[in-house]
Amino acid sequence: MLPLLKNTQQWLAPYAYALVGFLILAVVVHFILRYLQNKNDFLWYRHAISWRWLSLSRKRILKTYPFYTHLTTSYKRQFEHRVARFIADKKFEHRSKLPITDEQKIVLACVAVQLTFGRRHYLLELLDTILLFDGPFESAANQQLHKGEYNPRARVLALSWPDVLQGHQITTDNYHLAIHEFTHVIHIESERVGHIDAMRYHKYHQHILAALTLPELRIKLEQSLFFRTYAFTNQYEFMAVLTEYFFESPVRFKEEFPQLFYYLKKALLYKDE
Ligand SMILES: [Zn+2]
Repeated sequence: MLPLLKNTQQWLAPYAYALVGFLILAVVVHFILRYLQNKNDFLWYRHAISWRWLSLSRKRILKTYPFYTHLTTSYKRQFEHRVARFIADKKFEHRSKLPITDEQKIVLACVAVQLTFGRRHYLLELLDTILLFDGPFESAANQQLHKGEYNPRARVLALSWPDVLQGHQITTDNYHLAIHEFTHVIHIESERVGHIDAMRYHKYHQHILAALTLPELRIKLEQSLFFRTYAFTNQYEFMAVLTEYFFESPVRFKEEFPQLFYYLKKALLYKDE
């Protein structure tokens, strides 16, 4: 028996070494991939298995979206993937049960993806449904007419579609309803969710609040008349209005309020160069 056992051990030995070697290699590859994923926001297995593409008709609309057209090829692919996933992840409804068009889905998803493009978490987990209206609607909260309203408890973002479209088409007036309302979603998320992007947003929002306590900045803000006065309603409106200016008047914003611009850029993990 004994020689046979010895033979078996000898026979198995190379396989055992190979197995141990393979396990070590797997661990090393795992850590390298994890490092690359964190560095480049690239989930190789997810990309390999479920890379999402838009249908041709939707892609035609995507190609008219200004932010998308200025991206490099690989970022374009990532943007398209995120837009497709965002559309698959959310419910789009019309208040009068009208069908939702491809244009509506693409424009709204593009705005959400543009706002979160620097981040890893872009699906806005505190949002389930986007509810479209044919114009301003009566708010359940205060019975006034609103163009947009986010209800974090119901996880619904209600939007007046004509106003979304106007904000999207006129790019120099610092009014952009969808950017404004999605910023509220991102802001509330930063207070309630624990992932790294939410924490970063929260941190730089705190920096902005601290900066606002400086008399020097307050006086400058009041005198410059750059931001519309609605910005000073409360901290949520301030962030939302600032973000509209960030995308529509970045040059002047950066020139006049470099510190605020810097903090907002960091909050969104955004590259403006
Ligand atoms: Zn608002």
